[in-house]
Amino acid sequence: MKIRLATVWLGGCAGCHMSFLDLDEFLIELAEAVDLVYSPVVDVKDYPENVDLCLIEGAVCNEDNLEILHKIRARTKTLVAFGDCAVTGNVPAMRNQFGIDNAENVLQRAYIESAQNHPAVPKGDGIVPPLLERVRPVHEMVYVEYFLPGCPPSASRIKSLVAQLLSGHAPKLEGEQLKFG
Ligand code: SF4
Repeated sequence: MKIRLATVWLGGCAGCHMSFLDLDEFLIELAEAVDLVYSPVVDVKDYPENVDLCLIEGAVCNEDNLEILHKIRARTKTLVAFGDCAVTGNVPAMRNQFGIDNAENVLQRAYIESAQNHPAVPKGDGIVPPLLERVRPVHEMVYVEYFLPGCPPSASRIKSLVAQLLSGHAPKLEGEQLKFG
């Protein structure tokens, strides 16, 4: 039976998914070994049940991120924090330095102070999901089985991790490449 694979894009720039697409011909091998059941690159709206492996790009920045992350954890056997934003918070966590009332300060900075025309914070219309007071790495919100750092992780490291997980081995990070544990 094929592995049920998902990839998720939370608070990130999509660069980690671009690196995933750089897997080139390994994508063909992957397509034979997995069913891609949820991803920004497929048109599936709801995260499904019984997912074997999920790569999560991006940090947890807002309530929408947090809600889907809990759903993902409940429905997935193995989670990978995919890239530095997921592993440490990285770029999106730079806003944490805006101090107390962080979410309000960020909205003020983005929509009022930086606006050239029509400064106004969008509220109550669903355009901007409510921001969390602090941006968090994924493992601070849910249990994560594996971490794949890099901004973005190189395609070769993604390939090494995914290939080992698909073969049923527990990978561990060592140097440029991942080795069997
Ligand atoms: Fe983008 Fe780097 Fe974050 Fe990946 S880790 S989402 S490449 S900023």
